[in-house]
Amino acid sequence: MMLFNQEENDTLCVKCGKCRSVCPVFDEVREEGASPRGKTALVQALSGHMLAPSRRTKKFLSECLLCTACTEVCPNGVHTDLLILAAREQLSACAGQRFTETVLTKVVFANTAASFKLGSAVEAVAGEKLDSGSGVFYRLPADYIVPEIRGKKFSESKKNTYARRTATGFFLGCLIDFINHETAEDAIALLLASGKTPFIPAQQACCGLPALSMGDTKTAARQARAVISLFETADTVVTACGSCGSMLKHYYALLFDSPGDREKVRTFAEKVKDITEVIDPDVIRPDIAGQAADGTRSVTYHDPCHLKRGMGVSRGPRQLLEQAGYDLREMENPDRCCGLGGAFHIKHRALSLAITRKKTDDIRSTGAATVATGCPGCMANIASMVIREHSRVNVVHTVNLLAAGLKKQVRG
Ligand code: SF4
Ligand code: SF4
Repeated sequence: MMLFNQEENDTLCVKCGKCRSVCPVFDEVREEGASPRGKTALVQALSGHMLAPSRRTKKFLSECLLCTACTEVCPNGVHTDLLILAAREQLSACAGQRFTETVLTKVVFANTAASFKLGSAVEAVAGEKLDSGSGVFYRLPADYIVPEIRGKKFSESKKNTYARRTATGFFLGCLIDFINHETAEDAIALLLASGKTPFIPAQQACCGLPALSMGDTKTAARQARAVISLFETADTVVTACGSCGSMLKHYYALLFDSPGDREKVRTFAEKVKDITEVIDPDVIRPDIAGQAADGTRSVTYHDPCHLKRGMGVSRGPRQLLEQAGYDLREMENPDRCCGLGGAFHIKHRALSLAITRKKTDDIRSTGAATVATGCPGCMANIASMVIREHSRVNVVHTVNLLAAGLKKQVRG
């Protein structure tokens, strides 16, 4: 696997510390090893054999959300996130993987369909159902609050409707396929209104990002190959999940060595677009836009890390929301990570919750009735904190608000 040119990056960090000011993890932990600069130094020491892998080193390297806030501000263009991914790949090959890590990489992330089925059964048997403004959630043992997992994949339930290969492939990603079916419906409604009939293959599965983030590049590459081959004939591959989109568009290129594979990945990456980039803006008009469920129009927008810094999508969703008649109230830090970070929120629960609390504080301070975002992972994470805090904020996907207006127009 050609994850990263580590040598090239090793020389770039001048230890200025600018990255420390934006790292949500360092903001909580306040130890140099938890800062992007400290992590970069650790990776250098590991790759130069000046340091042997230890529990403490692994802990610091696992304490990263891959939010790329550090990369965005680094004056020397150091890709700390990629250095960390490369280090995780090497460390995962070392003996002494913890039991939880082995289960996550070899069982949960390698077989996401089976994992979601199991999750659904656990919710039914051990969960307490919580009805919130943001959908159905379950409180599980150890006080985990998780969204309802559907009995059937969305792509499976629509296999006879959207099976025809068209120019517009729709890659749902696990969370939309197994959980956020309304988001899938609303995205389809917007695509159809924009004159694009989507192709939604029922065989689609995980994009590979969870496996990659744990250092399991073999599983990630296998999952990447499957996605690329499913959408080979499409001109555009639409996503409504910033994390999946960023994986398809950028991280796939890190997984393959051969020139043939790399060319295939490059062609594929060019086709990947977020849903807000392909909707025809003319179908969104203020006179047809819906209000939020409580009758108000105030909305704040959370920038998913991978959608803003990965796919470069940030202004577009805001413009569409304003065009749809919503009163956009900005947070102080709309692009600060929500604290999910894939397996980060399982491995570093207290830290993750502390970071999410800062996000919901910021959301509340806007006074907006609704928070919209473009990643179902952020949605679930923010909504679970909103439920914990007994707050009334409604958490939705951007397309839910945009399509609400569309439905009103259809109803006349
Ligand atoms: S990674 Fe970049 S921002 Fe951080 S200390 Fe090094 S040069 Fe400075
Ligand atoms: S990617 Fe995010 S969490 Fe990781 S070191 Fe950089 S700023 Fe910190």
